[in-house]
Amino acid sequence: MKTFILLGLLCVLFCPISGYAQADETSRSWNQPVKPFRIIGNLYYVGASDICSYLIVTPNGHILLDSGFVETVPQIQQNIAQLGFRLEDVKILINSHAHYDHAGGLAMLKRLTGAKLMTSEADAALLAAGGKDDPNFGDRFAFEPVTADRILKDGDKVKLGGVTMVARLTPGHTKGNTTWTMTVNEGKRYNVVFAGSTTAPGYKLINNRHYPNIVADYRRTFQLLKSLPCDVFLAPHGNFFELTSKSKLLEQGTKPNAFIDSKGYKQFLEDTEAAFEKEVQRQSNQKLN
Ligand SMILES: [Zn+2]
Repeated sequence: MKTFILLGLLCVLFCPISGYAQADETSRSWNQPVKPFRIIGNLYYVGASDICSYLIVTPNGHILLDSGFVETVPQIQQNIAQLGFRLEDVKILINSHAHYDHAGGLAMLKRLTGAKLMTSEADAALLAAGGKDDPNFGDRFAFEPVTADRILKDGDKVKLGGVTMVARLTPGHTKGNTTWTMTVNEGKRYNVVFAGSTTAPGYKLINNRHYPNIVADYRRTFQLLKSLPCDVFLAPHGNFFELTSKSKLLEQGTKPNAFIDSKGYKQFLEDTEAAFEKEVQRQSNQKLN
């Protein structure tokens, strides 16, 4: 729980230099290179120490979920090669949400791969604006704009080489914040949830004229997330699901696979929902004083 609050604080304390947001000292600490590895089935970790990026491998090319910062792209490139795959085989780019620490490298990745970018309508607008006019950050965390090739609605499927990924719209953290689900096979079938961000780092939750429905959206999002069957729990930030310790366990060959963690998923939702409601309460009380 403390980590989420800390993460939120760090988020608002960013002070990027003019132009496109570059990783500052804090965010650079999330962007340390780590060894890529197979998580489960055809699903691979190709991101940095805390900023996650996932490769879903199929016989007809690959799907890449999230780009990290623009500075993460060379790591992703290297990680994919190290696993024995080719960046050029990435056919589809999808994302969790249009913030510079997860979408800053999408434009570059699209150029490098020629892949099609598929995203929600609200995130497509924020991506096209390069993160500008964000309802909570304004123009503070701009990144290179990128155009979507397909707009996804809630429940839409992205299919490639026998893999089906389902987009669930979970607005709040951004208006187009998306949770992805899929199944993987490893001995049996497992439900994978790539949970969208549920934190509200320094957000104005009461009377936010840039996002009047923000509280209702978060609440609906928590309900939807709680309804999803989840065996394998993943997210855009490693600290949401204990990436570091789980990857160590996996490397040591600990069985069962540490990423199979439905309890961790429930706990994450409970913690971030409680933190959210506490913040709503705090801001409401402030209003009354
Ligand atoms: Zn974010």
